[in-house]
Amino acid sequence: MAIVHVLLVALITASTSHGAAAQTWPGDLAALAKAGRLRTDPIATVAASTDFGNITSALPAAVLFPSSPADVAVLLRAAHSDPNWKYTISFRGRGHSVMGQALAPAGVVVDMPSLGGALSAARIVVSADGQYVDAGGEQMWIDVLRATLQRGVAPRSWTDYLHLTVGGTLSNAGISGQTFRHGPQISNVQELDVITGYGETVTCSKSLNSDLFNAVLGGLGQFGVIVRARIALEPAPARAKWARLVYTDFPTFSADQEKLIAPRPDGSFGPFSYLEGAAYVNHSLAAGLTNAGGFFSEADVAMIVARAAAKNATSVYVIEATLNYDNATAASVDQVLKSVLAELRFEDGLAFLRDASYLEFLDRVHGEETALEKIGMWRVPHPWLNVLVPGSRIADFDRGVFGGILQGTDIAGPLVIYPLNKSKWDDSMSAVTPAEEVFYAVSLLFSSVANDLKRLEAQNQKILRFCDLAGIGYKEYLAHYTTHGDWIRHFGGKWDHFVQMKDKYDPKKLLSPGQDIFN
Ligand code: FAD
Repeated sequence: MAIVHVLLVALITASTSHGAAAQTWPGDLAALAKAGRLRTDPIATVAASTDFGNITSALPAAVLFPSSPADVAVLLRAAHSDPNWKYTISFRGRGHSVMGQALAPAGVVVDMPSLGGALSAARIVVSADGQYVDAGGEQMWIDVLRATLQRGVAPRSWTDYLHLTVGGTLSNAGISGQTFRHGPQISNVQELDVITGYGETVTCSKSLNSDLFNAVLGGLGQFGVIVRARIALEPAPARAKWARLVYTDFPTFSADQEKLIAPRPDGSFGPFSYLEGAAYVNHSLAAGLTNAGGFFSEADVAMIVARAAAKNATSVYVIEATLNYDNATAASVDQVLKSVLAELRFEDGLAFLRDASYLEFLDRVHGEETALEKIGMWRVPHPWLNVLVPGSRIADFDRGVFGGILQGTDIAGPLVIYPLNKSKWDDSMSAVTPAEEVFYAVSLLFSSVANDLKRLEAQNQKILRFCDLAGIGYKEYLAHYTTHGDWIRHFGGKWDHFVQMKDKYDPKKLLSPGQDIFN
């Protein structure tokens, strides 16, 4: 109801104060406005005023619907060279941020998906030798996956949900269950085309314009817009054995997780291609398991709940892992799986297995999206909290958060927890992590389904306060801060360089204002 009201007010405000007729644009932008690609009408601006988080909204003055990267360059050149320019500029991929990171209050939003337009397929090109794919920054990972699978290859590092853009996830890091072995998505990029704050298109890589390359990857959209990314590929497996293993105590769960992500002396990894995990706390145990992507049957849930009760466990933890295979390895995959499982200490009889095509496994969250959309639960407010916690403090985090703050509360949404190896990250890039070699990604993906947004936001603050008081040296992922000091603390030793790069590539501080770093 509140959102409808906000949108109505926005529509009225937009139609009265930002009408197309009232607006004059400098230079080549006037031609884009005339062609209907730079719009100030409320249908365009209201659609660009919200995001997946459904918590905050801000109306832009205009939206650019570029038909090519050249249109974006025109905008950025005009913004840089016009001394009277007054608009900030954001790049909206799919608007799947949760706290307004892709918004541009009273500024210009670039609607990135328009770049693909009718020529979308032409903006995903697999190299002749199948070693890499060149993908437009506006392309969704699901489309990159489909295009590469046609050639029998695929990127190796993913996010859990694929209906996000290449530019959007590379601006953060892009993490999932493959990160422990392949690094985040930003570690798997070979080259970028970036249009900087000057409107100049720059090709960059580890060996060419490397300062821009490193700054943009994990750079929260601060230095320019990614219009092409060259992403490393590997031969695509056909299918995945997909396992969920239940634990009733945290130390055993996390010890097994860390065992599964540990590199061998020669740097190679064990057989699991993907490893994540989830926590289900007391009060919401049955509901959480029931809603875990339909993986557990009613009988499975009953069995797990009974075991938790028998063990007096206040939380249940579940390792999720996959073993990829293809025709060549199909005959041996069950045996390999059996021998890995034999070395783990999950609850007796509580290993649940599925077999899925590689595409079905990777695109699993889209199925949940469709189901939630049907019952009106996808577009609710999402006060998400994502933190990277040093491995040495994860048991303290468990005790204070899963075993403390979240006990006895109603929880809608998954509580994801899995370890990563820092050596698979490139510290010269902008993304920040804790200093320890093993750290955990903890994603508390709360949905506000009972008019309880304020309570959930207060709970997030309590969790962060607990971490601060306990001296847990965490870093927020997909962070949203409102004070300069918080950003300085967040970037730590990388802050001064981040500012230097900003001065070099976006000196007017116009880009991605929704991150609230320089505005
Ligand atoms: P937007 O929200 O549109 O933009 C985000 C930021 O990136 C903005 O500041 C914007 O200006 C900038 N930006 C966008 N495109 C470009 C570009 N081409 N060049 C430069 N800057 C750009 N993240 C993970 O790492 N792992 C996950 O498993 C994961 N799962 C998710 C599941 C769901 C259901 C959702 C909603 C989000 C998930 N995310 C995950 C978070 C997601 O990666 C980020 O929110 C990402 O920014 C969303 O991509 P987007 O294309 O919608 O970007």
